[in-house]
Amino acid sequence: MADKRDYYEVLGVSKTATDDELKRAYRKLAKKYHPDANPDNKEEAEKKFKEVNEAYEVLSDSQKRRMYDQFGHDGPSGFGGGNPGGGYYSYSTSGFSGFEDFDLGDIFSSIFGGGSRNSRKNNGPIRGADLRYNLDITFEESFMGTEKEITISRDETCTTCSGTGARPGTSPETCKTCGGTGQIKQVQNTILGQMQTTRTCSACHGSGKIIKDVCDNCKGKGTVRKQARIKVKIPAGIDTGQSIVLKGEGEPGVRGGAKGDLYIVVRIKKHSIFTRKGTTVYCNIPITFTQAVLGAELEIPMVDGKKEKYKIPDGTQNATTFTIKGKGFKNINTNNNGDFVFTVNVQIPKRLSKEQRELLVQLAKTMNEQPPIKKRGIFG
Ligand SMILES: [Zn+2]
Ligand SMILES: [Zn+2]
Repeated sequence: MADKRDYYEVLGVSKTATDDELKRAYRKLAKKYHPDANPDNKEEAEKKFKEVNEAYEVLSDSQKRRMYDQFGHDGPSGFGGGNPGGGYYSYSTSGFSGFEDFDLGDIFSSIFGGGSRNSRKNNGPIRGADLRYNLDITFEESFMGTEKEITISRDETCTTCSGTGARPGTSPETCKTCGGTGQIKQVQNTILGQMQTTRTCSACHGSGKIIKDVCDNCKGKGTVRKQARIKVKIPAGIDTGQSIVLKGEGEPGVRGGAKGDLYIVVRIKKHSIFTRKGTTVYCNIPITFTQAVLGAELEIPMVDGKKEKYKIPDGTQNATTFTIKGKGFKNINTNNNGDFVFTVNVQIPKRLSKEQRELLVQLAKTMNEQPPIKKRGIFG
């Protein structure tokens, strides 16, 4: 799929093109490249025609367009490899299915129901579309793990007709135009001899079946749009960009095809004091200058809300870094915990009482007024 042209480029529109602009561009190009309009250059024209159709079919569907904008031709699976968050975590309620199973072709198959890309599958079962949901969680939730309930809008098999699209008590009839194959074969005489072409049957749109008496509930589609509430378990340690795969929670398949999957892509909100890199937590801890000079036992706030006691030595310099082992994020693969790293910021008091000032003056007198300057120091 790497050499596929960008859909916007194919249609010659900008990424912000409106539906109207898309439609106009599509009509113009479809007319231009229609194989019947290019008898001298049929093959090339057909290729372009298909490309234009495919681009329009994706971009004219707001959901697919969003998906395309986010992932490009590779689909959400392309998201994993290059993700600096490290590793593509997959978690599923009913057994893990590798990302290899996932390919954008499957999404298209259910959208187009046997369009140009999918002629080999015409008439056969088609897997349902995969869905994607972006879930924002807090830093603390990603640290401790959580359970969320999300609401998604998805197509579900119509219960009135059990997905056939035909009114209960009736059943779809075999398409007379194509004899139920969903395809029309044409033999043409050309200069090069006889050529056989196959196209999708326009009477049944490739399904091989004609529904005469449509189901009232789904208007013959076999599916209805529904709001589904789904519980999602978020494991402790998950990082931005990692996904949870809920198998079979996508859209229903066509003609007995398997259900698609639901991809929950997690994003973690910024925290006011903590940051994260891999499994390590970082934060800055302000200390007073007397704590730095004399040493102190600090109470360090942990991500889970607890406090951890930590002794810093006397003579601690500003910006010194300390590590508390095992108090970072859980590694999702190994279950080991990372570390907690804090950096001290020595606060120099800006206002002193008269008494404090006097004490410091006394202190200064006991020390050499100026720290010795090294030979190649700033004055050197
Ligand atoms: Zn129905
Ligand atoms: Zn047909």
